[in-house]
Amino acid sequence: GSVSIVHVRLTPIDDELVFAVANDNTEQRAAEATRREFAVNVSHELKTPIGALSLLAETIESASDDPVMVREFAVKMRREARRLTKLIQEIIQISRLQGGESVLDHDQVDVAGVVHEAFEGAALAAEAKRISLVADLRERPHVLGDRDLLVMAVRNLVDNAVSYSDPGARVTASVTCKDDIVSIAVLDQGIGIDAQDQERIFERFYRADPARARDTGGTGLGLSIVKHVALQHGGAVTVWSQPSVGSTFTLSLQRFEESE
Ligand code: ADP
Repeated sequence: GSVSIVHVRLTPIDDELVFAVANDNTEQRAAEATRREFAVNVSHELKTPIGALSLLAETIESASDDPVMVREFAVKMRREARRLTKLIQEIIQISRLQGGESVLDHDQVDVAGVVHEAFEGAALAAEAKRISLVADLRERPHVLGDRDLLVMAVRNLVDNAVSYSDPGARVTASVTCKDDIVSIAVLDQGIGIDAQDQERIFERFYRADPARARDTGGTGLGLSIVKHVALQHGGAVTVWSQPSVGSTFTLSLQRFEESE
């Protein structure tokens, strides 16, 4: 339950504790506000594909004598349904990651294997745009963590790199080590990101260019998931980007040494 500040003031306690409790309460209130805001955003984001679906269904109703049109709208409906599924899966994923209680497995994970699996997942989308996926694996470090979550994080970065690149471009994932930090960098030659957007893209539902992101089937949750996976592993994710030059997203994790 929440701690009331009034109670604290009635009892003589040293400043430090008062501060700690006050701080705790502020944090709690901020967390509640964030949850409320998330719920509002979720309903808003769900409304878009559902609205599109009912509009498409209506159109089919009135054009049911034209089989070509019916087919065309059915294809569109399937795409919206896919978007909706992805959105719901990501919402569940993000709620779990933020749930407080850790959902992490703590296995010894081969980072190169994570990159390979992320590439496998992104291969179809890359092929469709003739984008080559290049793995630059000079080292074979391990980290301690949840393999599935790490694959999902890297996959999100690779999917974005493919989505926001022109056909025929190249996407590179490299694994490097410095001291006890492993860095997985996903580099693209895509559209890049403005400086002011770079600060906000890790926020849930934030999209630098909503129209374009919607075209790519984007939900605005991918990078937020990557951030939470990184934090759950005691790591971080950073971005370097320049508009019309490209972007590099780097996931940094603590290296796991076998001798430990
Ligand atoms: P989305 O599902 O819209 O891609 P993300 O959370 O993955 O959502 O990314 C948030 C926004 O960051 C995107 O809408 C896009 O504007 C920008 N972005 C992410 N990755 C890249 C990239 N590799 N190149 C250019 N822009 C990117």
